[in-house]
Amino acid sequence: MYLKLDNNKQIKKFYRLLSLYKSIIFKFVKFKTSNSDKNINLIIEALNIKNRKERITFVYDEACKLIDNQVNGKNICGFENCKCYTQRNNSYKYGCFRMCRYKTNSGCSTKNLACKLFNCSEVKKRYKVIEYSDLKILKLLSIRQRFIVKSDYFTLRENVLKDLYSYSFIYSSIKIILRTIIDFIHVKAIEKRTINGGIYEN
Ligand code: SF4
Ligand code: SF4
Repeated sequence: MYLKLDNNKQIKKFYRLLSLYKSIIFKFVKFKTSNSDKNINLIIEALNIKNRKERITFVYDEACKLIDNQVNGKNICGFENCKCYTQRNNSYKYGCFRMCRYKTNSGCSTKNLACKLFNCSEVKKRYKVIEYSDLKILKLLSIRQRFIVKSDYFTLRENVLKDLYSYSFIYSSIKIILRTIIDFIHVKAIEKRTINGGIYEN
């Protein structure tokens, strides 16, 4: 199916019809477009993935990639001696993810979209960062799934994806709450090991 997306009106209509295009009705339809915009082409590519889980995985990974490509090689948090902009005048280190269990010496060991979308005001006043609304590809997710990608912080990519695959809002909400409790216990355990106001033993 060839989609003529040459003006704003056509593009807006295209976004409005996304739920329909990803439905069973278009299961065997291959989409093409005249538009060369990267975001639109990513959506078209996703629409041509007919397996639900594979499409969700593609959407998640591509959204992460768009952010990674923009910040790649830039020290947007201003880290110097392990201290970010907000930690210049206190004793803490390693930014706002200092207590996350997935933090390693070389950075994050997983891929978490909620974390990637988070930028404090110190970062935002210095850089034009990618916001949630810039990630047009997320329009392919349901309202429940969009809520998850915005709120599932400090979580392994694989667990976020499991939440996204689920059809049940209650199931994924319970899992997010349980993980939050486990993370809280983990943070408290780290706090007990804290020495010298924010420098950790490991
Ligand atoms: S987002 Fe802000 S608080 Fe978090 S690490 Fe970056 S500068 Fe620090
Ligand atoms: S999961 Fe989030 S908070 Fe934890 S290390 Fe990765 S980006 Fe940082």
